Amino acid sequence: MTSPFESDPLPARLAAGLAKIGLALRNRAWREAGGRGLTPTQGQILALLARRAAPLTLGEIARELAVTPATASDAVEALRAKRLVRKGRSRQDRRTLAVALTARGRAEARRAASWADFLAQAAGELDATEQAVLLRALIKMIRALQERGEIPVARMCVTCRFFRPHRYPDPLRPHHCDFVNAPFGDRQLRLDCADHVPAPAPDAAFVWQSFIQSEEVRP
Ligand code: SF4
Repeated sequence: MTSPFESDPLPARLAAGLAKIGLALRNRAWREAGGRGLTPTQGQILALLARRAAPLTLGEIARELAVTPATASDAVEALRAKRLVRKGRSRQDRRTLAVALTARGRAEARRAASWADFLAQAAGELDATEQAVLLRALIKMIRALQERGEIPVARMCVTCRFFRPHRYPDPLRPHHCDFVNAPFGDRQLRLDCADHVPAPAPDAAFVWQSFIQSEEVRP
């Protein structure tokens, strides 16, 4: 008879654990959104617009949230009817319409952005080293999913043209960001940076290899 400890490989149990966290997040999003007269997608759009400095086109919203253009369009129209967003000409391309928050939308976006705070509180139960190890592991998983086209391109340091991994011997701040011209450590690695610019393919592969060459994680 197979031992119960051998029948379930570790990757499968990790996937089950992540699925439970995903379920908690979905339940919370429906509860919070429902209480505000929104759908989770509408709340995600508000939070996304709040994170970005500039208005976004419908195509960008659909891409970032991994929804169809039709779903993004319906959600934006519903938000516009509630006077939480407005549409105007994009600054980059005057032929395109871009979506921006209204003042009322900004207040609602702040609430929507806090829906996942309960997860941050749970992560706060981990000690400093566990947090740094988990962040690095999540970055690896997100990149793997991104490479397989399972999730939209994440605006992470490890895929950014400004990221210079392991430039310094300082174990607490080995990396450098050329955008802000400052050193930083594993704990400061970003997963959704508004200033991110994707690194070109050959550089991206080199940067990734340089980043993972050191598996030692500092809290
Ligand atoms: S610009 Fe943002 S994503 Fe890019 S390296 Fe700097 S902090 Fe990271």
